[in-house]
Amino acid sequence: MSWLDTVQLGDFDAGARLELTCRHCGKVRFVTVGELLARGDFGRLWLSEVEARARCRQRGCGGPMRLAMPHSGETKGFVGGIA
Ligand SMILES: [Zn+2]
Repeated sequence: MSWLDTVQLGDFDAGARLELTCRHCGKVRFVTVGELLARGDFGRLWLSEVEARARCRQRGCGGPMRLAMPHSGETKGFVGGIA
């Protein structure tokens, strides 16, 4: 279990941004919750399910993506490590 299993897409504001990083080629893509909701069937998905469905759009890649929230406050522990 990770926090991705505790939050549904519909819990966010439509303007909230999510960061998708390709596990294969490292390509980073930002999507808003509103964009995902506009596809119709994402509103009741857990974030872990959204992550499982996401695929890299790079030509010839199509790798699985890692989902994260930029500036979510979840990364408090890392702040002290930035010089
Ligand atoms: Zn990729």
